[in-house]
Amino acid sequence: MTHALIIGGGIAGTATAMALRKAGISSTVYEAYPTGGDDIGAFLMIMHNGMDALRAIAADEPVVAASFRTDNAEYLDGAGNVFSCGPFGPGHPDPVGPRTLTRADLYRTLHSELRHRGGRIEHGKRLVSAATRADGRVVAEFDDGTHAEGDLLIGADGIHSVTRSLIDPSAPTPRYTGLNIAYGYTDAADIPLSPDTFRMIRGGSGFGHTTSPEGITFWVVHLPGAPLGKAEIAATTAAQWRERATKLFADDAETTAMRIINSTTDEIMVSAVHEISSLPHWHRDSMVLVGDAAHAASPLEGQGASTALEDSVILAQCLRDLPTLSEAFSAYERIRRSRVERLVVFSGRAATMAEAKEKARPERRSWLLDHHIDWDTPITDSARSLP
Ligand SMILES: Cc1cc2nc3c(=O)[nH]c(=O)nc-3n(C[C@H](O)[C@H](O)[C@H](O)COP(=O)(O)OP(=O)(O)OC[C@H]3O[C@@H](n4cnc5c(N)ncnc54)[C@H](O)[C@@H]3O)c2cc1C
Repeated sequence: MTHALIIGGGIAGTATAMALRKAGISSTVYEAYPTGGDDIGAFLMIMHNGMDALRAIAADEPVVAASFRTDNAEYLDGAGNVFSCGPFGPGHPDPVGPRTLTRADLYRTLHSELRHRGGRIEHGKRLVSAATRADGRVVAEFDDGTHAEGDLLIGADGIHSVTRSLIDPSAPTPRYTGLNIAYGYTDAADIPLSPDTFRMIRGGSGFGHTTSPEGITFWVVHLPGAPLGKAEIAATTAAQWRERATKLFADDAETTAMRIINSTTDEIMVSAVHEISSLPHWHRDSMVLVGDAAHAASPLEGQGASTALEDSVILAQCLRDLPTLSEAFSAYERIRRSRVERLVVFSGRAATMAEAKEKARPERRSWLLDHHIDWDTPITDSARSLP
C-alpha cells in the first residue's frame, strides 16, 4: 500500500490523513509540537465550504459537536450604523452553518477523529530535511535525529513551512499583511452579546465578536502597524493590550469594542499576520504542499482553515484517481491554484468604508462558500480549477 509522510498535525495535516485513509492510502502524521500545537489559544471559523470538505470525508459531525453556529454576518460602521446584515451564505444548503470554535478544540477534535479511525500521529517530530531517493521513495529527517521513509511527503507544516523551502529553496517567504491581530474571550454579561452572528465593527477589518451558547464572547481586533515580534508580544501585559486596542475606537460613537475589550480580564493573544500569495512550485518529485504551506490568506475572510480542508480532500482524490504522483500533484495544483490565489487577493483589507460596504455584500463571497466536493466524482487528468 502507498504510504504518505504528512508533515504537520494541524488542520490540513490531520484532514489529509483522514482523506487519504478514505482513498486507501496509509499515512503517518509528524507534528513538531510535543502536544499537537493545541496551545495556540485563538479561535477560528469554519465556513460552509470547509464544512462541505469535512462532510466529504464524514468528519463533519465531531467538528459540529465541538463548535457553535455563527450563521450570520453583521457589519457596522464606527457610528453604529448597520450597513449589511444576514446569513454568510443566504440560501446555502449546508444544514449546520458556519461554525466557530477554538483552534485548540479543532486540533483536539481532528486528532481524536483521526486516531479513532486508526490513523497515526507522532508528536515531537520537527522536520528538518527531506530528500527523494533515486527509487522515488522519500526520506524525512527530524530534529530528534530520527527519520522516516515513505512513497510521498505532504507538507502540511503551515505558513512557515520547512517543506516549502525543501521543494523550492528560493520560494517566496511569507509577507506581512500590515495587521497584527489580538484575540480574547470574556464571559461578562453586561456587554452587547451576539449569539449566532459575527458582528464586525468598522467593516471587516476593525473589531469582530460573537457569543457562544454558554455566554462566552469571542472577540478579535485588528491592530495596524509594524509587525509585532515574539519578544514584544511576550513582554506586553493584558492591560497594555487593552489600552492599545481600545484607543483605536476612542472616537467612535459605537462603544461595543471598547466595552468588550475592557471586560476581558483573561489573557489577550496577539500575532502578526502574514500571507503567501503565489508560490511558483507546489510540488517536486515526491513532495507536495497543502494548506498554509502552499497558500496563506489574511484571516479577514475567515477562510484559511476551510480552504486547507478543501486542499486535503482534493489532494486525496487526485492521489486516488491518477496513476502517478506527478499526474496527481499536477491535477491537484491545477484544481486548487486559481481559487486559493483569488482568496489571498480577496482577503485583503478594505481601504475605505465604501470598499468595506461593497465587500460586505453576501453575493461577493458566494464563489467561496458554494464550493462543493463530491467525493465519488473521479478526478481526471484534465481536471481544472473549481470556482
Ligand atoms: C491570527 C489568525 C487568525 C485566523 N483566523 C481564521 C479563521 O477565523 N478562520 C479560518 O479559516 N482561518 C483562520 N486563520 C487561518 C488558519 O489558521 C490557517 O489557514 C490554518 O490553520 C491552516 O492550516 P494548516 O494545517 O495549513 O496550518 P496550521 O494549522 O498552522 O498547522 C501546521 C502544523 O504544522 C506543524 N509544524 C510546523 N512546522 C513543522 C515541522 N517542521 N515539522 C513538523 N510539524 C511542523 C505546526 O506545529 C502545526 O501543528 C487564522 C490565522 C491567523 C494567523
